[in-house]
Amino acid sequence: MAKIGINLKEGSVVKESDIIVGIDLGTTNSLVAYIKDGEAIAVKDTNGKNTLVPSIVHFDAQKKHLVGEEAREKLVADPQNTIYSVKRLMGKSYNDVQNVEHYFGYEIIDEDEDKLVKVRVEDKFYTPIELSSYILDYLKKRIEGVLKANIRKAVITVPAYFNDAQRQATRDAGKLAGLDVLRIVNEPTAASLAYGIGLSEDESKTIAVYDLGGGTFDISILQIDNGIFEVLSTNGDTFLGGDDFDRAIMDHWIKIHEIDPKRLQQEKDFSQKLRLAAELSKKKLSSDVNFSINIDGLELSLNKSTFEELIRPLITRTITACKSAIRDAELEVDEIDNIIMVGGSTRVPLVKELVAEFFGKAVDDKLNPDEVVALGAAIQADVLAGNNKNLLLIDITPLSLGIETVGGLMDSIIPRNSKVPHRAGRQYTTSIDGQSNMKIAVYQGERDLVEHNRKLGEFILKGIPPMPMGLPKIEIQFILDADGILKVKAKELRSGVEQTVEMRSQYGLSEEEMGQMLLDSIMNAQSDMATRALLEARNEANNIVRSAEKFIQQNEAILSESEIETTKNLTNALKETVKGEDKDLINKAMADLNEFTSPLAHRAMDVNIKEAMAGKKV
Ligand code: ADP
Ligand code: MG
Repeated sequence: MAKIGINLKEGSVVKESDIIVGIDLGTTNSLVAYIKDGEAIAVKDTNGKNTLVPSIVHFDAQKKHLVGEEAREKLVADPQNTIYSVKRLMGKSYNDVQNVEHYFGYEIIDEDEDKLVKVRVEDKFYTPIELSSYILDYLKKRIEGVLKANIRKAVITVPAYFNDAQRQATRDAGKLAGLDVLRIVNEPTAASLAYGIGLSEDESKTIAVYDLGGGTFDISILQIDNGIFEVLSTNGDTFLGGDDFDRAIMDHWIKIHEIDPKRLQQEKDFSQKLRLAAELSKKKLSSDVNFSINIDGLELSLNKSTFEELIRPLITRTITACKSAIRDAELEVDEIDNIIMVGGSTRVPLVKELVAEFFGKAVDDKLNPDEVVALGAAIQADVLAGNNKNLLLIDITPLSLGIETVGGLMDSIIPRNSKVPHRAGRQYTTSIDGQSNMKIAVYQGERDLVEHNRKLGEFILKGIPPMPMGLPKIEIQFILDADGILKVKAKELRSGVEQTVEMRSQYGLSEEEMGQMLLDSIMNAQSDMATRALLEARNEANNIVRSAEKFIQQNEAILSESEIETTKNLTNALKETVKGEDKDLINKAMADLNEFTSPLAHRAMDVNIKEAMAGKKV
């Protein structure tokens, strides 16, 4: 099925394809895949050779950009204008990346009004979203060339640990490239789909996805149950990958050939050749036992066992992360059913060996490790197109989501580690008579007080019809969609007044910050609890004070002067304690006031009922 469109500019007829493509937008390499005759295939370049597109963008003097292999060739000659690893900047603030800035060969800046980092290329600024959109656009054109039709819809993968801001940024990049991003899918989920795991209905499995790419390492533990995918835990190292293997080889050669470090700095061409030779030797040694090359008269060689000793410590670090991930998932190693190998660096035999040894079973490595994520994304896209109806994807939300209630308290509506998609709601009411507006402030975090959590946004529910306090029934619904994007709905149930707002979390919450927020919540649990108790006592006291004052006003006729006097005194005493910091004093004063007024309230009620009965005409 294809719609026919007309290109007005060229006057030509263009087909609109119904195909939803799968895209792996990687740190080092990206690629696009689709389902052809029931099978996932990765799209090759025009020469029919490579499926991988280096995730690199180069700008020339006219600010025209190149993407992929051509951009990669400029990396050494023109580093300031050649942008790589832009995925590391997605959804990040300058503060997030400040301490790793030296890693980038180009300039990263921040602007005050905008928390998102930007990349500076001479006098122009680019957001990571724009830069990623160039890569996506390149992939889109590549597949449009093959299918001879316009592509509009896509599924894009992201690491399982990506937070809301990073997912939003990825989605925005797709939009900018003219793609309707139907789903953001976790990379490990896509990889397991590519292996056909999770595609049949009555299947229950626990799997580990080991992803060692160019510059990053991710380990994810997934639970798959009847077509539902749940991420149990993630771990890894954002600065560990194949590039480190290359560097280890280079350092080895520099050492044994006593190459002057100054020469490397001055002769960019030579150091680039050395780096490429290191990468080549690494790749060759995945199948051969010896490698040698001559660079500018220098005879460089490496054998497999030396290479393995050079990288062994790096692989050991990945195993440590695997241990942590399994522990966080509350599992034992032997409970893992499959170990899926992802990322170009898992082609190294020693990587597979050590991983298999740690897990105590053979790893899954039949599929091309740099393509599996894109292939899985294409399978997921096919599911979305309606070709495999029983499949669902479930992730977990890393931080609790809630709203601010009276006194600055955080009331969690969706707790941390809940599965998404998720919908939860709670009822609230007003605290002032005739209150017509209610502010709903949404926060993310684990602390009891909202001021310690992260604000996602706020809105005002307007037009609540005037009612005594406590009477309106305001239902707040949190709807977290499959991409982890939150919608908040507020509705006054008696009148039906309602409002829905999509919370776009502010950009820039790093994993470090997220970890810090969790840590703080544990460290401060004790004092938070005390503060919460005090605030709750104050809230309750304020409500009681208001009711007592109202009670006297409405029942003056049936109360004696001394009763009114004592009620007023007790109310004032309670008001005094609210100003203090002692919750026990507040509770005591509340109890005193309650004890005195409760017989009065009963009497007033009796009188009111009698009056009501008397007035009733049967
Ligand atoms: P990312 O997911 O970070 O975009 P990839 O999965 O594409 O990265 O992995 C890229 C890395 O894989 C590079 O460091 C590259 O050198 C390495 N690589 C590719 N092929 C091989 C091979 N045959 N042997 C060892 N490493 C390889
Ligand atoms: Mg990858």
